[in-house]
Amino acid sequence: MGKKVLIIGAGGVGRVVAHKCAQNPDVFSEITLASRTKSKCDRIAAEVKERTGREIATATVDADSVPELVQLFEREKPFMVIHVALPYQDLTIMDACLETGVHYLDTANYEPRDVAKFEYKWQWAYRERFESAGLMALLGSGFDPGVTNVFCAWLQKHEFDTMDFVDILDCNGGDHGLPFATNFNPEINIREITQNGRYWENGRWIETKPMEMRHTFDFEGVGPRRMYLLYHEEIESLVQHLNGVRRMRFWMTFGESYLKHLEVIHNLGLDSIEPIDFKGRKIVPLEFLKALLPDPASLGPRTKGKTNIGVIVRGTKDGQPKTRYIYNICDHQEAWRETGAQAVSYTTGVPAMIGAKQMIEGAWMRPGVWNMEQFDPDPFMADLNRYGLPWKVVETDIDIDALPE
Ligand code: NDP
Repeated sequence: MGKKVLIIGAGGVGRVVAHKCAQNPDVFSEITLASRTKSKCDRIAAEVKERTGREIATATVDADSVPELVQLFEREKPFMVIHVALPYQDLTIMDACLETGVHYLDTANYEPRDVAKFEYKWQWAYRERFESAGLMALLGSGFDPGVTNVFCAWLQKHEFDTMDFVDILDCNGGDHGLPFATNFNPEINIREITQNGRYWENGRWIETKPMEMRHTFDFEGVGPRRMYLLYHEEIESLVQHLNGVRRMRFWMTFGESYLKHLEVIHNLGLDSIEPIDFKGRKIVPLEFLKALLPDPASLGPRTKGKTNIGVIVRGTKDGQPKTRYIYNICDHQEAWRETGAQAVSYTTGVPAMIGAKQMIEGAWMRPGVWNMEQFDPDPFMADLNRYGLPWKVVETDIDIDALPE
C-alpha cells in the first residue's frame, strides 16, 4: 500500500523528486511539496499535473524553524519527509521528525551556516534517538553521496573481497552557454569546491590545496575532461563500511572558464561567508553572489550534453587482483523533457525517490540513522535501471595516477 510523502524544498532537485514520486502512485499515494516560497511549489505542482495528471498539494514552511515544521507535519501527517531544501536544515527537520513520528531522508549532510564544514557527526549523533523512536533516517540519497555509495556496496557484495583503491569520478559534461553558473545551489557548490582537498589513505586523511591534484580522464558520452581531487562527504562513511579500503579519493571535472571565474570571485572575496557591513547592514558576500548568479533551476532548457558519474575500484576477489568501473550516463536534455530540470538535479532527485521507495516498501526500513551502503544494494540498483538512471559495470585497466594532467 502506498504512503503519503512530504517533500521539502522546491529547487531543481525538489522538482525532480515531485515528478518522480508522482509517476509512482502505487508507492507515493499522496504528495505534498512544501518550501519557503510557495509560488515555486505551485509552479512545480502545475507542471506535475500537466505531465503526469496527478494532483500534489503545496505548502509554505520555513524549515529553519522546528515549531513551523512540527505544525506542518502534524497537519499533513506524512509517513516520511524527503528533505531536498538545503543542508543547513538537516537538523531542524530531523528534530521535527522525532517530535512527530515521521521518517526522514536527505541528499546532503548537515553543514552549519557559519562554518564551511560538512561532516556526518551531527547527524550520526541522532542514531539512538531515531532508533528508540522506531524511526528511520536515510542520509545522502542523491547521486554523490547516494548512488556512488550504493555502487560501492554492490561491488562489495558481488565483485570484491577487498576494495583496496576506490576512486569516485564525477563529470558534468553539460554546456549551458553562459559565462558562469553553478549547476546546483551556488552557495553550497562554491563552499564545497573552494575548500582544501582531502582523501583517505592508510587510515588517515591527507589534505591537499584546493584543486592541487588533477588528471585528464576520457569519460564515455562526454570525452576527455580534466578532473580535480576534492573532499566529498561519502568518503567519511564509505571508509567505515567497505572492506579493506587502503585509499579513497573523489574527483570532479571543472572547465577552465569555470575555474577562472571562481579564482576571480575568490580574489574579490565574494565567496566569503563572513558577514560584512554594507551601508549599515550586514551581508554575507557569498549569499549576495548567489542573488546575482543564474538560478540553477533556470539552466534546464539551455543545458546540453551528458553527466557521467561512477566509481573505479581496484581490489581482490579470491586472492586475485581485479579492477571494475561502474557508472551512469545521464543526458541533460532528456532529463529536461521528462521533469523540466537538468541532469544534475535529475541524478539527485531520482535516487531520492528511489531511497524513499525502499523505505516505504520495507526493503530498507530499519530504525536508526543510516548511510546508503549499509543496506542491500540490489533493490536500489534494479530501480536505478527502472526509473531513468541505468548503469554499466565494466572491466578496466585504467590507472588514474598514470593519466596526464
Ligand atoms: P536549490 O537552491 O535549487 O533549492 C533549494 C530549495 O530549498 C529552494 O526551493 C529553497 O527555497 C528551499 N529552501 C531553502 N531554505 C529553506 C528554508 N529555510 N525553508 C524552506 N525551504 C527552504 O537547490 P537544489 O535543488 O539544487 O539542491 C537541493 C539539495 O540537494 C541541496 O541540499 C543540495 O546540497 C543537494 N544536492 C545533493 C546532490 C547529491 O548528489 N547528493 C547533488 C546536488 C544537490 P527558496 O526558493 O525560497 O530559496
